[in-house]
Amino acid sequence: MQGQVAVVTGSSQGIGRAIALELARKGCRVAVNYYRDNDKANAQEVLSQIEAGGSSGILVQADVSNSQSAQAMIEQVVASLGQVDILVNNAGINKDQLLMRISDNDWDDIIRTNLNSAFYCSRAAVKHMIRKRYGCLIHISSVVGISGNAGQAHYAASKSGLLGFSRSIAREYGGRGIRSNVIAPGYIESAMTASLNDEQTARLLESIASKRLGKPEDIAGAAAFLASPAASYINGQVLPVDGGMI
Ligand code: NAD
Repeated sequence: MQGQVAVVTGSSQGIGRAIALELARKGCRVAVNYYRDNDKANAQEVLSQIEAGGSSGILVQADVSNSQSAQAMIEQVVASLGQVDILVNNAGINKDQLLMRISDNDWDDIIRTNLNSAFYCSRAAVKHMIRKRYGCLIHISSVVGISGNAGQAHYAASKSGLLGFSRSIAREYGGRGIRSNVIAPGYIESAMTASLNDEQTARLLESIASKRLGKPEDIAGAAAFLASPAASYINGQVLPVDGGMI
């Protein structure tokens, strides 16, 4: 993986950050995407760690839920680093709410950020990957995209959408050296799960075979494997990384 170029969306913190650092440790040059101005310092810290570890990369600001912005991000990466070999569609949001209380705006926000973003970024990246007849797409879904979850109808719909999207890309471009796989994390310690109270955490742990929440590094290890030559015959798959939850 030495010298390959990886783009990780939403990698200023959490799971994306861990994936960016792990891919850099494997020798990749990494484009660290951040969204808002106040994410920039965190993104810079990620890039500094990448450089301290002997690899390199760039920062790219983009709102990946916006078509133009996502496309401009991929073009900026190719202009700066010469290519894009690995795309990790990680950026995502949740706005947990019962079905009856989900507003049209919240539905649109979730679908745009979690699903449309993967489409915008993948379309732009695959254009370059086809030329090289090589590329690896990894989409960060969720176990709730497989099982569903009360209070997350919109989130689960967006995460299920990634499964069909990814499998279709695998079938469409597998013959041209492009692989597309999904990671379905269980409950991972991050800003997204920070609001769980002790009672909710205890209830969750009952359903997790490994009896612990996951860490961002648990997802990063799986992502680095799927991006590596060891996974070169793995295409169109969904890999739950959930401590045996589902
Ligand atoms: P997080 O909130 O720490 O990270 C989400 C990242 O996405 C942030 O860096 C944020 O800035 C970025 N982002 C949001 N909207 C964006 C946009 N429009 N453009 C660019 N970046 C944007 O949470 P996390 O847990 O690290 O989540 C990462 C991914 O993992 C998400 O897709 C999430 O749905 C998924 N996931 C998380 C868990 C979990 O338990 N934490 C479980 C399953 C799946």
